[in-house]
Amino acid sequence: MEGSRYIWMDGEMVPWAEANVHVLAHALHYGSGVFEGIRAYETEEGTAIFRLGDHMERLRRSAKAYSIPLEWSVDDLGKAAKEVVAINELESAYIRPIVFYGLGAIGLDPAAATVHTAIAAWRWGAYLGEEGLRNGIRVRVSSWRRIDHGMLVPDAKGTGGYLNSILAKTEAVRTGYDEAIMLNAHGSVSEGSGENLFLVRDGTITTPPVAAGILNGITRNSLMDLLQDEGHHIREASITRGDLYYADELFLTGTAAEVTPIREVDDRPVGEGKPGTVTRQAQDLYQQAVTGRLDQYRHWLEFV
Ligand code: PMP
Repeated sequence: MEGSRYIWMDGEMVPWAEANVHVLAHALHYGSGVFEGIRAYETEEGTAIFRLGDHMERLRRSAKAYSIPLEWSVDDLGKAAKEVVAINELESAYIRPIVFYGLGAIGLDPAAATVHTAIAAWRWGAYLGEEGLRNGIRVRVSSWRRIDHGMLVPDAKGTGGYLNSILAKTEAVRTGYDEAIMLNAHGSVSEGSGENLFLVRDGTITTPPVAAGILNGITRNSLMDLLQDEGHHIREASITRGDLYYADELFLTGTAAEVTPIREVDDRPVGEGKPGTVTRQAQDLYQQAVTGRLDQYRHWLEFV
């Protein structure tokens, strides 16, 4: 990964190389942290962070879900994120806030541990590759099931939960695919290892509901608004593995992955085996929204 110069840590700008934690930090041992992934885009009027307030609000909710006391307000965190982008002179960036337990407790109860908050930002290109954005990616259904509502809080972005995503992602890559699609404990489709999923069939767009164990993605929610404005009907409904095979189009959404078409699932071509018209429209609308070219969604942008 490409670094940058400063990371905001507990209220101060710290040089990249000095933004370290102790090896006995609670979060390192038990995954007791929550985080966010946000993107800033270059627009005609300067650098803008996409849905910054909504991301920081999700961070607050994730911390609440896991009872991690948050020292900073959503506003404070938003201001700090802007400062990190500015001080690093980034025109576009991936922004990574994290709140985690540090030193002070090594038993499972983290109450005696310190809580730390950091926000880093650096340049990061297409998560699933430029070629993937253009022509679509190849996915497989994972042998691993997505974390369930009875095990963790799947719609909170807790660091520990990502061991589950890592199992799915590494299995997919090791076996020659670009990304994994995870079923939930009941066998319904949930999402990618770090993206939400949309399916198009006979003109209807479907995406799994939060009850399916997904992370309630901000890109997903943005796309639902954007596509509905264009007259599409979007259903939040359960999707089966077979539905994936009969789909005309499939695409993934996420801050890092943006809108990535899927061209093959479990070695079966999706539709014609190339990105379809709804997928192209979704990509186009999303790019217009994040770069400030849609007047009705200007409020999604926070200028640095
Ligand atoms: N699902 C998972 C598991 C993720 O990690 C992400 C990325 N944060 C998403 C979905 C997409 O969420 P968002 O659109 O808010 O980035």
